[in-house]
Amino acid sequence: MSLSVAQALQAAHTAGLDRVDAFALLGALLRCERGWLIAHDDALLDADQTARWADWCGRRAAGEPVAYLVGEREFHGLRLAVSPAVLIPRPDTEVLVDWALERLAAAALPAPQVLDLGTGSGAIALAVKHRHPAAQLTAVDASPTALAQARANGEQLGLAVDWRLGDWWQGLAGHRFDLVLSNPPYIAQDDPHLQALTHEPLSALASGSDGLDDIRRLLAGASAHLAPGAWLLLEHGWDQAPAVRALLDSHGFSQVQSRLDLAGHARCSGGRWPGTP
Ligand code: GLN
Repeated sequence: MSLSVAQALQAAHTAGLDRVDAFALLGALLRCERGWLIAHDDALLDADQTARWADWCGRRAAGEPVAYLVGEREFHGLRLAVSPAVLIPRPDTEVLVDWALERLAAAALPAPQVLDLGTGSGAIALAVKHRHPAAQLTAVDASPTALAQARANGEQLGLAVDWRLGDWWQGLAGHRFDLVLSNPPYIAQDDPHLQALTHEPLSALASGSDGLDDIRRLLAGASAHLAPGAWLLLEHGWDQAPAVRALLDSHGFSQVQSRLDLAGHARCSGGRWPGTP
């Protein structure tokens, strides 16, 4: 049996999907825009598409994220392939990218060395390279499958990044950077919020009893890898800004400050390493 577009949307509704998700999934399945679906609700899915639709509706109803089902997500104007090996890039992280781009514009170095620690899908590194092509990007992840995904995204987008497998600063001995960015795992391991995120890699989400273990490890290694006058910018939880600013202060950063996300939470904090570039 083949479904029409209208019947497919009705089946999604019956399965409990919300309308926005249903349109996103059906648009991806049929490779068309929402407007086309609305104007052609009598168009028929073929047998393969009908079977796929039943599968997707069931998986979405069971909580699988839309981005994993369709295999991609847009971030900072780039289309990134995503698999369950990587965190799905969030709009909040665009705040970190925009802050990085401001720093690069202000510093006006001819070929700034920029590092993305815990790159996942490659989102931050690729967005920075896309918008500031003079930057020389290095991106690190401890997961080989995540790194393969990031590398494939770089190749697909034609953006050059030096992809490296490693745990935070491991493997970067002797390298100093003008700008270091990270969206590390930052959720407390007993935070009930994690129960809604079971499809994404726990290693990209949770970080010890207060969520700050990885940020502490990252800051502990920073001094050996920052060029004079470098900036370090971190994403963190909505309520962690005071704690992260205190850690930046205690590690010797100056001009320590935070930036708000789209919901008005202080979502990123950063500071400047001493010295004159
Ligand atoms: N912002 C994500 C969330 O709360 C978590 C991302 C992270 O831990 N780096 O859903």
